[in-house]
Amino acid sequence: MAAKAGKEPVPRVSMPLDPPFAWSVGNWIEHFFDGMKEGKIRASKCPSCGRVYLPPRMICERCFSRADDWVELPVTGTVRACTKASVKVAENGDMVDLESPEIIAMVQHDGADTCIAGRLEADDASIGMKVEAVLNPKAENALDLLAGYRPAG
Ligand SMILES: [Zn+2]
Repeated sequence: MAAKAGKEPVPRVSMPLDPPFAWSVGNWIEHFFDGMKEGKIRASKCPSCGRVYLPPRMICERCFSRADDWVELPVTGTVRACTKASVKVAENGDMVDLESPEIIAMVQHDGADTCIAGRLEADDASIGMKVEAVLNPKAENALDLLAGYRPAG
């Protein structure tokens, strides 16, 4: 690209970055993960308005109170939204094609007022479908403690 008269082109440098980082999930999600290690689904509950959050939230989105009551929810829930994914994010951050599409569902657990996302092991999915969580309490990666969902029953 030609520079305009009297102006120099901006020098550009290309340099690969691979910054290591650690991310704290915070006390509420840590408590949620610890529960799944015991096979429990823990949700936070707002003591002021009673809204139940899964995944847990520290502050109630409705009344801004501290949602620091805890309730254990069943593994069962209902699909409220779903889609098929054909790619995933690899550990290095690249997008890679999946060998076969996966169903990603937003599941509202029985007793919860919010939804949590998870992979659904099923041939097909629909809104209103009853599902149950598949927990993997021995998972090394905390994100794998909730392995996904399968049709209930
Ligand atoms: Zn509230």
